[in-house]
Amino acid sequence: MTLKHIFKGTKWDVPCERCAKPLSECQCPPPPPPAPVVTSVPASAQKVVVRLEKRPGGKKVTVLAGLEAKDAEELLPRLKAHCGAGGTIKDGKVEVQGEHRDKVVLELEKLGYKARKG
Ligand SMILES: [Zn+2]
Repeated sequence: MTLKHIFKGTKWDVPCERCAKPLSECQCPPPPPPAPVVTSVPASAQKVVVRLEKRPGGKKVTVLAGLEAKDAEELLPRLKAHCGAGGTIKDGKVEVQGEHRDKVVLELEKLGYKARKG
């Protein structure tokens, strides 16, 4: 069969890709919509709240809430170096040991984030 034959009849003679029936008889459900593309949230769209938390024993920790997980991971080493302090990611939030709110807010703003002290 040549291409000419396929397109000779009505357009409904084209077989369905899934059930191979002519489209006029096809009972297939409509194809699902494509999965949403996960785009990274730009820094400027992330509102970061920089809080000071006191831990049992009087230890102070600067906690950044509102960052995307990917950004939190990228920022952790940068903020640790910037503050000269240790830090970690806990429950998706960057934690920097000690009180560094001002430094952290300034650094975040420099990088394009919307940051404020909470
Ligand atoms: Zn079908």
